[in-house]
Amino acid sequence: MKIPNKEIVQLVKDIQGSKNNKVVIIPHVNPDGDAIGASMALYYYFSKTNKVDVIAPSHFPEFLKWIPNSEEVLDYKKQKDKSDELVLNADLIIIADHNAANRSGDIEESIAVSKAKKLMIDHHPEPSYPVDFQISEILVSSTSELVYNFISEINNSAFDREIASAIYVGIMTDTGNFMHNVHPDTFKIVSNLMEYKIDREFIYNQVFNNYSLERMQLLGYTLSDKMEFLESVGTVILSLNKKELDKFSYQVGDTEGFVNMPLAIQGVNSSILVMERDEEVKLSFRSKGEIAINKIAKEYFNGGGHKNAAGGSEKELSVEATVQKLKEILLKNKQILIN
Ligand code: 5GP
Ligand code: MN
Repeated sequence: MKIPNKEIVQLVKDIQGSKNNKVVIIPHVNPDGDAIGASMALYYYFSKTNKVDVIAPSHFPEFLKWIPNSEEVLDYKKQKDKSDELVLNADLIIIADHNAANRSGDIEESIAVSKAKKLMIDHHPEPSYPVDFQISEILVSSTSELVYNFISEINNSAFDREIASAIYVGIMTDTGNFMHNVHPDTFKIVSNLMEYKIDREFIYNQVFNNYSLERMQLLGYTLSDKMEFLESVGTVILSLNKKELDKFSYQVGDTEGFVNMPLAIQGVNSSILVMERDEEVKLSFRSKGEIAINKIAKEYFNGGGHKNAAGGSEKELSVEATVQKLKEILLKNKQILIN
């Protein structure tokens, strides 16, 4: 089990030593289940001793609004002034589930100038965030798993049902309900979490069985009308432009999970969703086994992520032109996709 080093334990004990010390937690932009799970677990933990705030760089995901205290999470896009003040006056800032400053969205600038001690807790490769302390481990399921280790090292009796449930959300979502990135420790931790009577069925239903009718119809449309299979490289491309999303009254989060579905098709080794966002085209990459799809996200789409799950963006081109560019890139990089 990966545990935080002595300096980090001391840092946290010092922060908790005075209730005047203020903690701010920052999940990544467009936070997912792991970013929110890890952040909320830390929020519950620190709220026992300190003033603590979670500031999301952008909207809090709809499918996690059932999490206790989610209404307390600030949205930087809507509460910029208050958020900046909290960041500037914080004593400890925890960067959760990301390891590059630009993944903090527009909060990046005030974090950079804040005098607070900065601690990053993350599981992505190649950390570049300028922080004072970091817990950066790749061979774990999730940042939430690292938060479990973090809390258990500092105060093993601090766990309660809320903390355990938040950590469970992060592990469950980042492993695709225990399908990938699972290590022996992951199950040991989940076994410990279950001691706190977490309601696994409730959590599963909230997170995965929560489609609106239109969202399900959007999925049907995407798979039937907007799916292309590049057989020579084993890659499926799904694409959606703004007009199509609008037709199905798209809400943020509606396409979550779509990109995984083509991996269920025989002969498919990788899948990419290309979709229009407000100011850019967003790409989500998934692959199986040894195929390092994050190389393509990083090299061509200013992104990154894990070997089998990565993301990136395209700021110049339309969805259709991005798909064209992507096809050329995939064919040029056959050696990444076929091995
Ligand atoms: P998703 O496809 O679910 O949005 O993201 C999959 C993985 O790729 C996540 O682990 C996320 O951290 C990473 N990722 C997504 N978008 C970006 C991006 O724009 N830049 C980087 N560096 N990583 C990303
Ligand atoms: Mn994660």
